[in-house]
Amino acid sequence: MSSPSETLIERASAAPRALDAGEMAQLLSLTDPADLARLYAAARAVKLRECGKGVAVRGLVEAGNVCAKDCLYCGIRKSNRNVRRYSLEADEIAAAAAEVRDLGYASLVIQSGEIEGEAHTRFIEEVLRRIAPLDLGVTLSLGEQSEETYARWRAAGATRYLLRIETSNPELYARIHPAECDFKRRIECLAALRRTGYQVGTGVMCALPGQTAEDLARDIAFFGEIDADMIGMGPYIPHRDTPMGEHARFGEKGGIPDAEERLSLGLKMIAVTRLYLHDVNIAAATALQALAHDGRERGVAAGANVLMPNVTDVKRRRDYQLYAGKPCLDEAASMCRKCLDRRLASVGEELLYGQRGDSRHFAARARSDRTDP
Ligand code: SAH
Repeated sequence: MSSPSETLIERASAAPRALDAGEMAQLLSLTDPADLARLYAAARAVKLRECGKGVAVRGLVEAGNVCAKDCLYCGIRKSNRNVRRYSLEADEIAAAAAEVRDLGYASLVIQSGEIEGEAHTRFIEEVLRRIAPLDLGVTLSLGEQSEETYARWRAAGATRYLLRIETSNPELYARIHPAECDFKRRIECLAALRRTGYQVGTGVMCALPGQTAEDLARDIAFFGEIDADMIGMGPYIPHRDTPMGEHARFGEKGGIPDAEERLSLGLKMIAVTRLYLHDVNIAAATALQALAHDGRERGVAAGANVLMPNVTDVKRRRDYQLYAGKPCLDEAASMCRKCLDRRLASVGEELLYGQRGDSRHFAARARSDRTDP
């Protein structure tokens, strides 16, 4: 006879969006190793069926750590005086993009702290025009912007945008952000990204203080409600130069779960999201690797299909630390590639060189939009 969780996993594997939030919370609460192994294997099977074999790869360029926001968890928050601030020149970003192409990766992510304004909008536009001849898939992760800015960057060649909602619980959102960060604006930005034609990515942090399995289940339901194409999630990792990190307590009630538990929560989030949404792109975040050396490949074995190795110049990497224990601070991109090939082979997967790895969910929606009356 199958256990209650096996029945849920079977139902979720057969069709997308088959579980309600309470059922997803049950799966997110599993702790028995045999149950977890079944959950991850089922999610991986759905990944293989819906997204195929292999893992899409994007080179990640950390274009600058100047940030106008003061998020209470983030190491590059505006008020952190211990950060040496930098902004890459257009030449440096273009050089990183050329390296991405030379490595055989067909996609690039440009991420930075949040800056708004005409000068920044124009700078990114110029960068996008400049790298267009490389013919890479380009994802931006540059925070909240006006719809006009999103449209200009889309016109200049970006096709994907990542903007994590961080948590879909407005009260928890308010607890981990300063008052000027408005949950509603973040939701509106996600809607604006959809309207401007991007493949839209969102995601959350898990293992936040005070966050429950029900919160996380509702996060996954939220990804479905906004019909996200891509998901990036990772465990929260305290940074000591932040208000949330300076007195972080581990393992106690109301404190932060220990590393193993946070990693396992990150893996469960990947698996349950895969079982709920089937054909979206799901990244195995670097934060997983910060918690265990094999964290990213375990993410792939739990249903993720995207990796975003860092290609930022090693001189700059130390200055872009969102959380403690960022891995690969000294590894040149070519080293990372060899390491990744080896790591993925250990779980029977491989990097998809030369393929952009666009979201199949986005393609499916674009097809159905065309056939809808
Ligand atoms: N500023 C941009 C992108 C940079 S931050 C934006 O807001 O979209 C990228 C992601 O890192 C954030 O969305 C957040 O989820 C994650 N992050 C920040 N601080 C973190 C921490 N201490 N632990 C884990 N993840 C963190």
